[in-house]
Amino acid sequence: MVNKEKYTELVNELSSQGVTLVAVSKIKSKEDILSLYNLGQRDFGENYVQELVDKEAALPKDIRWHFIGHLQSNKVKYIAPFVHLIQGVDSFKLLKEINKQAAKCNRIIECLLQVHIAQEETKFGMNETELEEVRENIAEFNHVKIRGLMGMASFSDDKEKIKNELGSLKKIFNRPWSAEWSVLSMGMSGDYQMAIQEGSTMVRVGSLLFGARG
Ligand SMILES: *Cc1c(COP(=O)(O)O)cnc(C)c1O
Repeated sequence: MVNKEKYTELVNELSSQGVTLVAVSKIKSKEDILSLYNLGQRDFGENYVQELVDKEAALPKDIRWHFIGHLQSNKVKYIAPFVHLIQGVDSFKLLKEINKQAAKCNRIIECLLQVHIAQEETKFGMNETELEEVRENIAEFNHVKIRGLMGMASFSDDKEKIKNELGSLKKIFNRPWSAEWSVLSMGMSGDYQMAIQEGSTMVRVGSLLFGARG
């Protein structure tokens, strides 16, 4: 069930701060997506390729689909024709494949580089060396455009730890090579306010809007 009051409240809170809301609709029904769409929401985030392909085919064409999950290279081709922003670019190899598939579709696909900031082992993302590899080779990719960075803090009750992790992403975002970056995607249902304090420009919120995923 969609929490419409929460949605309206969140939109007001975020728009006053110039922060973009991506409504994370993974596992949620097309009806749930439509009910937020009818309130004006256009940016939706999905984690699974097949699910995204099905939803895209069935739902209004002016939805901006963000792919926020871990993307396998062999599946890029399925979303390349329509995806708005691929947020989880976590390897050089993946970026190369996105460039290749975007060329086939005659598109330039916008991407965020996912950086590993959580102290937890399980989260995906690039380290400093991999970021450097992208930076050195980015000129050869004509069909991708890096718009900024994405990161996920640890799932933890330790506020100080989360704040430090989010802050570390902002530091990387501020480096000189980011002059043309405009998107810093960090913050989820549990930590979006802290993420905004740390400089986030885009939050990815699911359970707060759609209820727990069970
Ligand atoms: C699921 C997911 C979210 C949303 O998480 P909530 O806690 O439900 O807001 C945000 N970002 C990513 C990458 C996710 O996988």
